Order: sequence, then structure tokens, then C-alpha cells
Amino acid sequence: METLLEVNHLVTEFRTAEGNVQAVRDVSFSIAKGETLCIVGESGCGKSITSLSVIGLLPSNGKIASGEVKYEGKPIHDLPYEELRKMRGTKISMIFQEPMTALNPVLTVGYQLREPLILHHKISKNEATKQGIELLKQVGIPYPEKRMNQYPHELSGGMRQRVMIAIALACHPGLLIADEPTTALDVTIQAQILDLINDLKEKLNMGVMMITHDMGVVAEVADRVMVMYAGKKVEEGSVQEIFDHPKHPYTIGLLNSVPNIDDPDFELEPIPGSLPSLQENIQGCRFHPRCKFAMDKCRELTPPEFKTDEGHVVSCWLHEEVEEVKHGHLVAQI
Ligand code: SF4
Repeated sequence: METLLEVNHLVTEFRTAEGNVQAVRDVSFSIAKGETLCIVGESGCGKSITSLSVIGLLPSNGKIASGEVKYEGKPIHDLPYEELRKMRGTKISMIFQEPMTALNPVLTVGYQLREPLILHHKISKNEATKQGIELLKQVGIPYPEKRMNQYPHELSGGMRQRVMIAIALACHPGLLIADEPTTALDVTIQAQILDLINDLKEKLNMGVMMITHDMGVVAEVADRVMVMYAGKKVEEGSVQEIFDHPKHPYTIGLLNSVPNIDDPDFELEPIPGSLPSLQENIQGCRFHPRCKFAMDKCRELTPPEFKTDEGHVVSCWLHEEVEEVKHGHLVAQI
């Protein structure tokens, strides 16, 4: 598959009263056209900051300290503000968890749909209205002509999310970044929005970067999965590999934290403890304070990325003993 986005050794830093802290630490990954990469991890693991670094929307105290972001082979991490602004919407679009934060409450749906079309495609208002109605139809909104004249507060949560997706797709971006797009929605609407994103990805051959903490969402949409912990990538592989052969204790912990109604013997096992703060300097593997398999080596040395033949990447000293780790038997051997 043709590579669309390439992120190499990304380091993102924030200026704080206590000095600079790294929220993303040397993270690399790529997304191909027509592929969905899910970036997974607990809140605060660096997944949203990774996506904001890609689209150039970091808060004012944040910056890409090193590494590169390439879109269709061209570096975009150091583009001037104006050029990056032009790319947003036309090449890369983003949808957020809460549509009301992205939609303007005092402007009609039609106005907000027409604006990017007129700005980027230099078309007339009438033509933009026609295209806006088509976009609303494309994302499954009934009575699109009527919706064009409504304000965001007149729509349901699911409908608002669809409008946001329509606006994000208005200028045919190659890459859609979706940051927890269904977390605020109830389960049936969540399934509809995920189906919609999947359908549009297939139809438009878009790349999708989905940010989520929910392994259920991952199972639904991912082609590949990247697991992040405390600013670092700890595991990456195809969705099949990650679900069937997880190799990092943190990934196994995430999978064991989700109820499995198909397996009567399944025991829910939450990951103990919580994520370290960005300021915390942890020697060795950053997961070791929460890992029940931690050895002396883990406390001293950072595990490198180990690659398997199946294209699986994992940063854990115990990656080869994974089956035992998975079934919790290894404690006795250490
Ligand atoms: Fe646990 Fe050690 Fe693997 Fe880190 S390197 S996840 S501490 S076993």
C-alpha cells in the first residue's frame, strides 16, 4: 500500500514552570492510503499530542523538538503557519470527541459547511450549498436541505458528529484524524459513526488515524494498532496480531481490562496504578512500576524495539516469553 503519512522519531515537548517536559518520546509510525491506524492508550499517554503534532495544532507552550512528519513524502512539521493552515482541511482533517467544541454554535450548519468549500475551492455560494447538501447525504443525515439552515444545538449528539465529519471531508482530505470521536455518544450511535468512518475510508481511499482508549473501538475499525504508554510507543502490529498475540504486558493489561462476554472463564483484570506524570523521570522501562513481570533489568535498561517476522514491533525485555506473560505464569519463573 502507498504510504500517506510518515512520522519519524517524533519528540514533542511542553514548556512548564518546572522546565521542558516530553509528552511524546521518539515515536515513529506510518499510515498508508486506505488504512486505519488506531493509536491506543490511557488518557495522558501522549496519543492526542501525537495527533496534534501531526496536524500542527499544538498548544502555544508545545513544540516538535525533533523528528519529522511527512505527508505524501514531503516534510510538513516545519511548514510556515499559513501553509500548514492550507493543508488542514484539504490534506489532513481532524474530528474531535465533542463536536460542540469544533462547531460554532452561532453559525448554521450550512454556513459552516460552505465556508471551507468556498475558501479552498473558490466556488460560488450556490455551488457550495449544493456540495454541502451532498456531503450531508454522504454522512447519512436525513432532510439535508433542512439541516443546512439549522444551528448545531438543534441537532442530536450523533447528528452533530456526522456534521463534523461532513465538514472534515468537505475538501477531500487524504488523511482523517479522529480523536475519540465516539466517546461522548451512546453505544448504538457509536456503532453507526464507526461504520460511517469505515465506509468513507473505503470509498475515498483515505488514511485514518483513530485515537482511542477503547479496545472495542479498535476491534471495530483498526487495520493496524499502535499502543502508547507514557509518551512512548510500546507495541505496534496488525489488529489481528495485537488481539491474538499481544506481546507487551501493558497491551495485555488493556485487553484484560475489557469484558469478554464470549469467554465464560474470562476474568477482568484492571492494570494496577496509574500513568506517571510527564515530569517523572523513570529509569529503564517506563512501565516497570506497574508491571507485575518487572525484573532488575527492566528497572535499569530501556528495552529497544524488537521486530518479529509478522511485522510486530514491541519494546519489552520479555517479548519472547509472551505466552507465559499472557497467561500470568511467568511470575513463578522470575
Ligand atoms: Fe514489564 Fe520489563 Fe517488559 Fe517493561 S520491559 S513491560 S517492566 S517485563
